[in-house]
Amino acid sequence: MNEALRRAARLRGTSRPFGSIATKETSTAGGDNARPCCTGRMTAASSDLVDDAGCRPTRVGISACLMGDAVRFDGGHKRDAFLTETFGRFVEWVPVCPEVECGLGTPRESMRLVRVENGVRLLTVRSGVDLTAQMEHFSRSRVSTLVGEDLSGFVLKKDSPSCGLERVKIYDRHGTPARGGRGLFAAALVDAFPLLPVEEEGRLADPRLRDNFVERVFAYRGLRSLFVAGWTVGDVVRFHTAHKLLLLAHAPEAYRQLGRLVAGAGALSRRELERRYIEAFMAGLAQLATTRRHTNVLQHLAGYFKDRLDAASKRELADTIADYRRGLVPLVVPLTLLRHYVRRFDVAYLAGQTYLQPHPKELMLRNHV
Ligand code: SF4
Repeated sequence: MNEALRRAARLRGTSRPFGSIATKETSTAGGDNARPCCTGRMTAASSDLVDDAGCRPTRVGISACLMGDAVRFDGGHKRDAFLTETFGRFVEWVPVCPEVECGLGTPRESMRLVRVENGVRLLTVRSGVDLTAQMEHFSRSRVSTLVGEDLSGFVLKKDSPSCGLERVKIYDRHGTPARGGRGLFAAALVDAFPLLPVEEEGRLADPRLRDNFVERVFAYRGLRSLFVAGWTVGDVVRFHTAHKLLLLAHAPEAYRQLGRLVAGAGALSRRELERRYIEAFMAGLAQLATTRRHTNVLQHLAGYFKDRLDAASKRELADTIADYRRGLVPLVVPLTLLRHYVRRFDVAYLAGQTYLQPHPKELMLRNHV
């Protein structure tokens, strides 16, 4: 068994099934201005992996080669510095290498997706061995074990016929590639976890996509902490209240839809409320927050201080927001000023908004959007 497999086995051995949590471990309340657990409270100083309330770590699946494990067909790896050195300080990785774990070993013959009469097959490049059934069987089985891994996201290696999420090359009989495929393991993963934040490492080089993915990971983690045994409608109301401005920055329609859902929660079964809330919430966050929507939210926040600030301070705040809208400063600049006023004037409702800090500040994601 190589090191990648040993690491995966170790992690599996320490996992705790989500469904086995008997009582609510975390509070989403703790006062009107407390944030839901695990969303925006994590600090590098507390332990880097868990939030300051001592919650479970945020666990994220990852293609093992991105961790630096030598599992690629040629015995190499594709270690990703942001994932391992920066984001990795705040999450616990669950590495998976479908090709090694399904028994193909390292090094191995390279493989690719090929379109044939009856669909797309996974074939080795030189000898043409059909690995489709082996990989599909492994993927179904491995994905079923991930149900117990308490995952809040997954980062996949782009372009791989096993792990690639989008635009993986599919070759025709003449060896001509066309982009539009999906790796077999990736397909099984998104099929089994349609709401899980899943992204490729290549797309995470884009600051907006990176910010969006990390936001969704911590938000999904918050939802998993919310909907554990014993949750109440009051918990949902508090969670929703804390995420209002975050939702507004992503998807105003989802913001309104979820508001109606929570207001009418009493008419729904608990199961129905949970299902509909999670689906609509994650669909809303999946929409990228635009500069215009961020500007709207910033102006909304500024409105809380119009009777508290003197004229010069109000002008400075308005100018800072305008500079952000015009692309002269990143989002972190107006947000830092607003956070300062939230603290100074002790505005409880705003202090509880995850929008002000949806992920650990050490990631510095809002310095680039
Ligand atoms: S892309 Fe996936 S299958 Fe290929 S080496 Fe990386 S983890 Fe393994």
